[in-house]
Amino acid sequence: VSPHLVLVGAGHAQIEVLRRLGDRPPGGTRITLVTRTPAATYSGMLPGVLAGHYTLDDLTIPVAPLAAHAGAACLASEATALDPVARRLTLASGAVLDYDLLSLDIGSTPDLAGAPPLGDRLVPVKPLDRFVPAWEAAEARHLARPGASVAVVGAGASGVEIALALRHRFDARGRDIAIALIERGPEIVPTLPAAVRRRLHRICAERNVAIRTGTTDTAGFDVVIWTTGAAAAPWIAASGLATDDRGFALVAPTLASLSHPEVFAAGDIATQPDAPRPKAGVFAVRQGPVLAENLSRALAGRPLAPYRPQRAWLSLIATGDRHAIATRNGITLAGRWAWTLKDRIDRRFIARYREGLRAVKD
Ligand SMILES: Cc1cc2nc3c(=O)[nH]c(=O)nc-3n(C[C@H](O)[C@H](O)[C@H](O)COP(=O)(O)OP(=O)(O)OC[C@H]3O[C@@H](n4cnc5c(N)ncnc54)[C@H](O)[C@@H]3O)c2cc1C
Repeated sequence: VSPHLVLVGAGHAQIEVLRRLGDRPPGGTRITLVTRTPAATYSGMLPGVLAGHYTLDDLTIPVAPLAAHAGAACLASEATALDPVARRLTLASGAVLDYDLLSLDIGSTPDLAGAPPLGDRLVPVKPLDRFVPAWEAAEARHLARPGASVAVVGAGASGVEIALALRHRFDARGRDIAIALIERGPEIVPTLPAAVRRRLHRICAERNVAIRTGTTDTAGFDVVIWTTGAAAAPWIAASGLATDDRGFALVAPTLASLSHPEVFAAGDIATQPDAPRPKAGVFAVRQGPVLAENLSRALAGRPLAPYRPQRAWLSLIATGDRHAIATRNGITLAGRWAWTLKDRIDRRFIARYREGLRAVKD
């Protein structure tokens, strides 16, 4: 009987797995992809949709052609339970899949513990595919009156980008809407260098984006966008897979589960205890080739290769107005050129999976 490889989630790492499986098919393997959404959404360009630089279509990657390229059966459903001892995955559709090898790239959700019960005035940034429609509905319904206000809760890179993108959006539409960036911790973008923080403070002051730290109080705002933290799907910890204290799957440098070596995980849902780092798409993208390689090796019974996280990486923070702040190795520069560079990198990423299903060259 052919071994069954089941991929769950077409996240930033697993779209690369699909591309490589298609380019170098592992002989005699049955492959199934379980995907909650018909398209993968690329988060790096999402604030640019709010700013009006992109349409949603610009940053979505249809999953069915990738699955077809990989020779995978594509099931439009959501995994809801896992029994890693019986090697059995249960889907929301009621289907049950038995696997020999399982790979999880299902991302994370904002940590909504502590979010106010605001109904459709509360707009979580994830799932990414639901964010823009939910935002547009909230904007139309609750921000139409003069003097309306928006709070963006969580001042990590994505929260800051969203707040500045909204200012650009409202300016372009001649709308005078108050925007506040609200952060529970003492500082905005705590994982970025102080020079970036200083620039962002200056830009927010110039553009009338209020910064409130040390609080999560959103009383009085008409719409609240929730970007804070990252939480794991509860069925991961409930399955008995080894997890960290927040319920993310613990993996070895090979991306194999520390408790069940026939389960792999990458992207936000995985935590590598020997190399802790923030949950960011850039790491999921870097893990893609290693995940693809190790799934192929595991199928062939060969030793696995380790993933070595990069020590330094280029971080590009868009400031809403087709400008960006670039930082790497402690050096920070800003300008329109940085946005153009980010735009080029982002568009090339999308094109690789939309049009570029050809042989892997490297
Ligand atoms: C507005 C915003 C901007 C960001 N900008 C950046 C940036 O510029 N740079 C950066 O590095 N990071 C950025 N991030 C963080 C980045 O989005 C995440 O780190 C990244 O998406 C994680 O990728 P992933 O592969 O783990 O999962 P995802 O890309 O989230 O993909 C997971 C996929 O799995 C699917 N799925 C989920 N659960 C199931 C299930 N049970 N069954 C089947 N399918 C399922 C989802 O629908 C989704 O398609 C940003 C985040 C946000 C919200």
